[in-house]
Amino acid sequence: MARIAIGGMQHETNTFAPTKASYLAFEQGGGWPGIQRGDALFAALEGANIPAQGAIEAFRAQGHQLLPLTWAAASPSAHVTQDAFESIVGDIERGLRDAVDRAEGVDAVYLDLHGAMVTEDHEDGEGEILRRVRSIVGARVPVVASLDLHANVTKAMVEHADAMSIYRTYPHVDMAETGARAAFLAMQMLATGKRPIKRHHAFSYLTGIPSQCTFIEPGKSLYELLGRLEQQHGCYLSFAPGFPMADIHECGMSVIAYGFDAGKLDQAMNAMVDAVESAEKDFALELFTPQDAIQRAMQLGSPGRPVIIADTQDNPGAGGNGDTTGMLEALLALKAQDACLGLLIDPLAAERAHEAGQGASLAFELGATSGLAGHQAVRRRFTVERLGDGRFTCTGPMFKGFRMQLGKMALLRHEGVRVAVASIKCQAADQAMFRHLGVEPIQQRLMVLKSSVHFRADFQPIAAAVIVARSPGPALADPAEFAWTKLRPGVRLHPLGKAI
Ligand SMILES: [Zn+2]
Repeated sequence: MARIAIGGMQHETNTFAPTKASYLAFEQGGGWPGIQRGDALFAALEGANIPAQGAIEAFRAQGHQLLPLTWAAASPSAHVTQDAFESIVGDIERGLRDAVDRAEGVDAVYLDLHGAMVTEDHEDGEGEILRRVRSIVGARVPVVASLDLHANVTKAMVEHADAMSIYRTYPHVDMAETGARAAFLAMQMLATGKRPIKRHHAFSYLTGIPSQCTFIEPGKSLYELLGRLEQQHGCYLSFAPGFPMADIHECGMSVIAYGFDAGKLDQAMNAMVDAVESAEKDFALELFTPQDAIQRAMQLGSPGRPVIIADTQDNPGAGGNGDTTGMLEALLALKAQDACLGLLIDPLAAERAHEAGQGASLAFELGATSGLAGHQAVRRRFTVERLGDGRFTCTGPMFKGFRMQLGKMALLRHEGVRVAVASIKCQAADQAMFRHLGVEPIQQRLMVLKSSVHFRADFQPIAAAVIVARSPGPALADPAEFAWTKLRPGVRLHPLGKAI
């Protein structure tokens, strides 16, 4: 029986986004369980599709003893404040140092990380966490991590971790499974006393996140190939399309590989790298204007078979605040019927709706709370159709078991358009978010979701079609539109595009 220290910190940083992640953002969690310390971690993650939970179950199944450190996650946003980073990572370091100093010591460390965290002081948040953890446990103790598919894998991360495993699905339905895979790598190292050989390749082109979905090509075929190559060559492969909204030197797509036979490892690695290079043109994506998307949806959709429109550029899962109004204005202007948009994040509007009460009709100024230039609130009379306390449990394949706390929620209606308003930002990726307000998604003609891809896990099965719309917002679908300043030279800013 080994003693395994478990901790984590997850943040996906869009350095171009309007709001930073403070300590409070991690306390609130934005759909995640909030900051957990010590044994409380086990109860908070239990039953949820969260990497650390997968790792915990895998270690426990083999009878290992777990030493819980601190675990925290927040909604994607701009930089993590240095205060939040030092508080949370400082806790992890203290817990680990205490465990190492005890007579029994620590045999391995598992960390639940994202891979695209940028802090006010560190371009490579995870590289810094892994460097500190390694300096505490030394070279002898295996250190493994699980990473999000949107990880921008850096040289420092590869150097300081013995092995890392990355999600293979977007929507991320395999978060817990990936944690278990990382745990298995650690257990293999403990059982054999060997460390795997490492390989890392960074690609020279960026891809917009809507095109990284693994339900569609080229992601679908690339991950199928990845599984085959692992089987064939007996190694561990991961492919991360990366997070193309983090202005750092090492932003972008990468493949990492671990194995014990250098020859086989190189064969697998080369085949995977070649496949990703050849897929560049297939990562291009068709985007619609809000008007075109809605008109198309009104023609194709019907109650019972709705069309889903992704308002990708305001995705809170990519650093948006869920408060832009371009899609809502277009829905109202085009007089859409049986339409529902969500989640619009506006705590003041939610508060007003609760004060006015169900059935009230009043003038609202909805959205545009971030103060982004060029964005305006929607000014209309809305009827308060339903109120909610924002507490419910998700049911879809990705967020199953997540216990949401989104603050006061309200369903507002103006003519044929309903708006699901929440107080704490969260990506609209689970039908339970709408059912909480009495909206049955399948009964709509069209739904506009502030999400890029994660919604597909729960909504694609009920959809007549999925359309990705480009309405103004901070999570740009085309990475070439960002004002990059730190990205390394030679990277093409979108598939087959111009290099920086
Ligand atoms: Zn992700």
